[in-house]
Parts: sequence; C-alpha cells; structure tokens
Amino acid sequence: MAPFLPLAPPLITALLGAAVGSFLNVVTWRLPRQESILWPSSHCPRCGTTLAWWDNVPVLSWLLLRGRCRYCKAPISRRYPLVESACALLWVITLLAQPAAMGPAPDPLLLLLAGWGLVSWLIPLVLIDLDSLWLPEPLCRWGLVTGLAVTALLGFQQGPTIGRSLLFSHLLAAAMGLLGFELCSALAARAFGKPALGLGDAKLAALMGAWLGPLGLGLAVALAVISGGLIGLLGRLTGRLKRGQAMAFGPFLAAGTLAIWWAGSRFWLDLLLPHP
Ligand SMILES: [Zn+2]
Repeated sequence: MAPFLPLAPPLITALLGAAVGSFLNVVTWRLPRQESILWPSSHCPRCGTTLAWWDNVPVLSWLLLRGRCRYCKAPISRRYPLVESACALLWVITLLAQPAAMGPAPDPLLLLLAGWGLVSWLIPLVLIDLDSLWLPEPLCRWGLVTGLAVTALLGFQQGPTIGRSLLFSHLLAAAMGLLGFELCSALAARAFGKPALGLGDAKLAALMGAWLGPLGLGLAVALAVISGGLIGLLGRLTGRLKRGQAMAFGPFLAAGTLAIWWAGSRFWLDLLLPHP
C-alpha cells in the first residue's frame, strides 16, 4: 500500500472538489433565478421529482443514468459532470501548487483552504457570466469581503506589522480594481459610443484586488487582456464571434486570478518582463 500513499491527498481532494462542484452547479442554476440555494434539495427541472442521494453523486450518477433523469428521461446537461470534474481538477491543482501569496510565511493549511475557497467562488461567477454576460453583484461583493477577511487572517497570524501592511495593500488593490475598471469603461464608452466593458467586470476586479494585492491584480488583468485578446481574435478569424458581438471577460479575469494564485506574481513578472 505504501507506494500509493502519496496519491491519497490528491484523491481525497478530487472527491471533495467534485462534491463542491456539484453544489456550485446548483448555485449557478438558482442564483440568477432568485431561488434559495439551500432549499429545496435537488430536483429534476422538468418532472420536479426530488433526487435521491444516489442520483446526485458527482459525475458517476450522470454517467450511470447516461445523462437522463431516472424518472422522466429528460436529458440532463453535460455541463453538470463537466463542472464537477473541472472543480475537482482545480482543487487538486490548488493542493499541488505552492502559492506565493499573502506575505512571507503564511500558514500552509489556511492558505490551502483560502485557495479552495477562491477557486470555488470564481466558478459560479464564470458560468453565470458565460450564460448571461452578467456577474452577480452579491457574489462579487461577498467574494471581496471574504478576500479581505482571508488577507487579515493570514496576515495578522504572521504578526501585526505584516497583517496591517497586507490588509492595507489589498484594500488599496480592491479600490484600484473597481475605480480603474470603471474609468476604462467610461473612457471606452466615450470612445466607441457604447459600453465596451460591463460594470460587473469592475466588481470582479475589486474582488481580485482583495485576494491578490496590487501587483497580483495588475498581472492578473494583464494576463486576462492578453488571453482574452487572443481568444477574441481567434473567434473573429474562425467566424464564431461576430463583429461587435460581446464576449464575456469574466472567465479571463478568473483565469488570470488563478494563474497568479497558483504560480505567484514573481513567476509571471519574469515571464512577461524578461530581464535582458
Ligand atoms: Zn425528471
């Protein structure tokens, strides 16, 4: 058994991540419809039958039921198992990454829990933005507050000086994210005569600032602009994106956030601005 022991933490993490992903599917479905997230328990949207726990096992149930409701045979979107698998994968990457975030010597366990929280918070934001080009304000606001709380917790646990400076810089970054994006949005609206950036993006940028600090925020936005630009160009070239068609920017901001969280600002700084 001994050689398999190192696989236990990633395996357990993947199972936990898939279970959380299953809950995030519920959040993504119910939040835009203003339904309660905790009640009632999962039910088929067509026939309304409440699902038993064995119909609700992440990924497995969908595969065993071949993507159909057990009772009315209505198709169940492929998105459910995909989101569950993606969440499991992101949780494992977060476990294996060595984030250089939150001061010189943050508590590793707290940092890991914070990373899982950040990943899980971003998933419904990304999905709702993809569905409806909308980043729900409460998710952004509470994600920001959580980011500042996590910063304070991890910072002050390393001493009052580090705690104060970390909290101050992340607070500043949150304000920079909000105001910077709103300014860009106002300038773009004036230049193009129509809104080019959603106001939701500004709120997401504020959330990012609270979690990443000023440098991390700047780099994450740079990564989002680069990757978003490339994908947008690709979409135009292949004809999948029409001229003037809006593209969700939230997913790119979220991807940039995770890239910074996992690899650290230093790594991306060296990559984007190589020393001569
Ligand atoms: Zn059904």
